[in-house]
Amino acid sequence: MNRVLLIHACFVACAVLPMCPSSAAGTDDSTSSARLVNDHCPVMPDEFASPQHEIQFHGSAVRFCCDECKVKFLSEPAAYVGHLSHLPAETVQAVIAQSQRQTRTEQADRWVDRWSRPALLGVALLIAVGIAGRAVVRSRRTQPPASP
Ligand SMILES: [Zn+2]
Repeated sequence: MNRVLLIHACFVACAVLPMCPSSAAGTDDSTSSARLVNDHCPVMPDEFASPQHEIQFHGSAVRFCCDECKVKFLSEPAAYVGHLSHLPAETVQAVIAQSQRQTRTEQADRWVDRWSRPALLGVALLIAVGIAGRAVVRSRRTQPPASP
């Protein structure tokens, strides 16, 4: 019985020990990577980026060669984030996924715009035909019998 308890205690110790905070080393290099910044403009990669045209984008600093590139980038970040190697991969993926979601809803909106009016017209036509057909049937029924 005692041996079973000992083995059990061993298992518990093995499971708990790796979670101890003694192995929490190697976390101090995240602060230095957060200060990284791009040295080339993401919109015009041939141009050098300037600290005068810097923005905070998803928690990272992004620099541009001029204000126009900044505006371009902010209006369509998914087209340019691929040029920013200092951004975390999750940020790049999130930005691209978000823009794909946006274009998908825009396509759906356009589809509704294109087809909603013809569909409504069709429904209205069907209702009109139905009413007209019923009116014809009723008028035939109420017609006086033909005289001999
Ligand atoms: Zn520029």
